[in-house]
Amino acid sequence: PTVIITVDGPGGAGKGTLCQLLAAELNFALLDSGALYRLTALAADKQAVDFDNAQALATVAAELDVRFDAGEPGQGVTTWLQGEQVGAELRTEKTGAQASVVAAVPAVREALLQRQRDFAQSPGLVADGRDMGTVVFPAATVKIFLTAGAKERAMRRYLQLKDKGVLSEKQLQGDGQSGTLARLLEEINLRDERDTNRKTSPLKPAEDAQVIDSTEMSIEEVKDQVLQLLAA
Ligand code: C5P
Repeated sequence: PTVIITVDGPGGAGKGTLCQLLAAELNFALLDSGALYRLTALAADKQAVDFDNAQALATVAAELDVRFDAGEPGQGVTTWLQGEQVGAELRTEKTGAQASVVAAVPAVREALLQRQRDFAQSPGLVADGRDMGTVVFPAATVKIFLTAGAKERAMRRYLQLKDKGVLSEKQLQGDGQSGTLARLLEEINLRDERDTNRKTSPLKPAEDAQVIDSTEMSIEEVKDQVLQLLAA
């Protein structure tokens, strides 16, 4: 049977990096479910869909034409939306915020459910998101809920955006940096609040999830802990 590892948690906790490491080491498929919500937001934005129109957003989600290319290990995934390559805009906080708006629409979540389940394949899948262990893969082999302190998460998100070339020169320097960090912290808190307080599939640990606080841990240490849980 297919092994499924779910990794849920708030933004900036390190889920993305952890899931990539796990998938590479175990030779498992990878589901970045956040990317599906981000792509729904991008597509809706491009089609000038009203973000208050739940039905229209659900149609965008249902008709989403996406392709992920894994590429070489360590190179990152290439994403295609309606035949066009998606660049850094996928990872901006603006898109993240829009994603959390469309993600609060029940019909959008419903439209993306089967698409997510279809990622499961032998020998296994690592699924990254907010409701992987609670809703999408309730029978997963190992469920992780990854957290970290808010300041640490803002710093991780900052480094990630910097790495992806999403930050401007100004944001990278002096006051720019502390200002950018403060703003990121605000944006992350806002998004976590929206994700935690929504009625459908709110962000919370599954009852049988292992909660890992990674504030003081390296991502390698977290990975080793997950591998131990998997072997147990
Ligand atoms: O993980 P990422 O930052 O890419 O997720 C963007 C947004 O998509 C989250 O803030 C959340 O609102 C939504 N999301 C979700 N359920 C998931 C994954 C992401 O609601 N499984």
